[in-house]
Amino acid sequence: MDDRASPFAGDLSYVYPTKTSPWGTFLAQVDRATPFLGSLAPLIETLRRPKRTLIVDIPIELDNGTMAHFEGFRAQHSFARGPGKGGVRFHPDVTLEEVMALAGWMTIKNAAINLPFGGAKGGVRLDPRKLSKKELERVTRRYTSEIGAIIGPQQDIPAPDVNTDAQIMAWMMDTYAMNTGLASTGVVTGKPVHLGGSLGRVKATGRGVFVMGCEAMKRLNMPVEGARIAIQGFGNVGSTAAELFAAAGALIVAVQDSRGAIFCSRGLPVAELLAHSQGGGGVANFSGGETIDRESFWDVACEVLIPSALEGQLTETRAGRIKAQLVLEGANGPTLPEADDILGSRGIVVVPDVICNAGGVTVSYFEWVQDFASYYWTEDEINQRLAKIVLDALDHVWEASQRLRVSLRTAAFIVACERVLIAHVERGLYP
Ligand code: GLU
Repeated sequence: MDDRASPFAGDLSYVYPTKTSPWGTFLAQVDRATPFLGSLAPLIETLRRPKRTLIVDIPIELDNGTMAHFEGFRAQHSFARGPGKGGVRFHPDVTLEEVMALAGWMTIKNAAINLPFGGAKGGVRLDPRKLSKKELERVTRRYTSEIGAIIGPQQDIPAPDVNTDAQIMAWMMDTYAMNTGLASTGVVTGKPVHLGGSLGRVKATGRGVFVMGCEAMKRLNMPVEGARIAIQGFGNVGSTAAELFAAAGALIVAVQDSRGAIFCSRGLPVAELLAHSQGGGGVANFSGGETIDRESFWDVACEVLIPSALEGQLTETRAGRIKAQLVLEGANGPTLPEADDILGSRGIVVVPDVICNAGGVTVSYFEWVQDFASYYWTEDEINQRLAKIVLDALDHVWEASQRLRVSLRTAAFIVACERVLIAHVERGLYP
């Protein structure tokens, strides 16, 4: 790229990625794939910056009559292969930089599993535990109005992510419909089933992790029955994966969340643990297992580790400590690049986020298709199609990884970057 082209050539002026920050991690992952892109490599700069980012102020009236301001974001990383697609998270640590990285991972994810979407992500910086349901509704509606000009069923389609669910999606859809006067069910996915949501969407991400995990274990000659599994994060993804693996005969030996960590060598009773954690206090103080120090979670003897919480959890030090032979990334961006190298040198296989947790967006795609057709599929059909799409992606990425002698992550990035950049070339530059 000619340096005269832009005063911003090189780094973006408004983010300062570091080796351990999400955008820094995303860039490092893109850079590792670039040498394998042949004649497309010079175009990679287009993936090293988001197409568009938006920061919005969200003023709302609190229940006590005072006013509060929240900061909201929507990052649209690429629309080369289709409209933007990606969740919205509510979390006190959300930043523009994080949302940009999450949007970038959505571009790679949607391309790696071959969905006709680009990548986007949104977030609001707040602690949902500190807001009432009515306050959360007001934040959601104002946020949706503020980003309303850049989302839409053919433009950019939000969905649930950390701390957001079907109710939040219902408020988003209703707000968008009220503002536009259109019954746009397809503007968000992950809606309640009565409002054009898809059967199977709630558990789709965890189910995708389970389906891919079983296939990876088969390829690595690791029996599922009796396998010891440690799970970080017991939200939608972690708890569903736990449920499905336990039903298949695996032992969920440890679970860690933001409140604590719990261990049982004979396997934790998943249904009871879920009921306990949904009581509001997380997994801490669960009487059906032994309480362990949160940091000791990483030392637990297990065959499989499923990080399904936030980014940057598998650091260099932790990567040197873990006992698992297989890591299934339910979270987005849980492993830092240096940790990836250590896992690779220790022979630990990582099924990367961009394919491993793609079950959620796959069923979001089914929901979007069903909304356009106003014709809804059965849960069996959905689960079967989900399994086919994610297993095809795993097969393709596994083959590329062996052929090019790179990690599954780099292989997934190579496959995805190729697809996005080919679309970019075919479309040409406007104007
Ligand atoms: N938030 C989920 C993810 O990270 C789902 C996104 C979607 O369904 O659009 O993949």
